[in-house]
Amino acid sequence: MLNLILFGAPGAGKGTQAKIISEKFSLKHISTGDLLRSEVANNTELGIIAKKYMHKGNLLPDDVIIKMVEKYIKEHRNCCKGFIFDGFPRTLEQAEAFDKMLVRLEMEVSLVVNIKVETEILIERLQKRAIIENRKDDSEKSIIQNRLSLFEEKTLPIREYYKKQAKLNDIDGKGDIEDISQKIEDLVLQKVH
Ligand code: AMP
Repeated sequence: MLNLILFGAPGAGKGTQAKIISEKFSLKHISTGDLLRSEVANNTELGIIAKKYMHKGNLLPDDVIIKMVEKYIKEHRNCCKGFIFDGFPRTLEQAEAFDKMLVRLEMEVSLVVNIKVETEILIERLQKRAIIENRKDDSEKSIIQNRLSLFEEKTLPIREYYKKQAKLNDIDGKGDIEDISQKIEDLVLQKVH
C-alpha cells in the first residue's frame, strides 16, 4: 500500500495534483476540505459544526478531523492501492494522531511531497478559485490572510516532523501543472519500485 501526503499552503495545487496522481497510480484521493464541504452541503450534524469554522478560514478541532479521516480510511481501504491525503494533516497534533492511527490500521505514511509556492502567487490563485468554485473562504482578503497565516503557524511545523522521519520531499509548485505532476510521479515511482 502506498500512502502519499500532499503538503502545501492553500492554493499550492494539492487538489489538482491529487486528482492526476490518484488516477495514474490507482490511489484513493482523500481531501478533508472536500469531505467537509460535502457535509456542509448535506447539512449534516458535522456540516453544521464545520460551517462555523470554514466560513472564517479557521481550522476544525483536531479530534473531529481525526475521527472523520479514520472512518473514511476504514470504509475505503480495500478499494485501491493506497491513499493520497490532501489537506491533512494540518497540525502537529493531527500528524501525531495520524501516525498512531496508521499503526492501529497496520499502515504507514510512504512519502510526503511539499508543494512550495510563493505567497503572492498563492493569493492570486485563491482569488481566481473563489470565482471559479464559488468558495467564500477564498474570496475575502481577510479570510485568505487568516488561512495563509494559520498555514505558517500551525501547518508548516509538520514539515520538520516528516523531515525527521526522512519522508519529506520539497518540490517547486510554480509552473505547468504537467511538469509538477511529473516531479510527483518520479517521487512516487521511487517508492513503488
Ligand atoms: P481546504 O479545501 O483543504 O482548503 O479546506 C477548507 C477548510 O476546511 C479549511 O480552511 C478548514 O476550515 C477545514 N479543514 C480542511 N482540512 C482540515 C484539517 N485537516 N484540519 C482542520 N480543518 C480542516
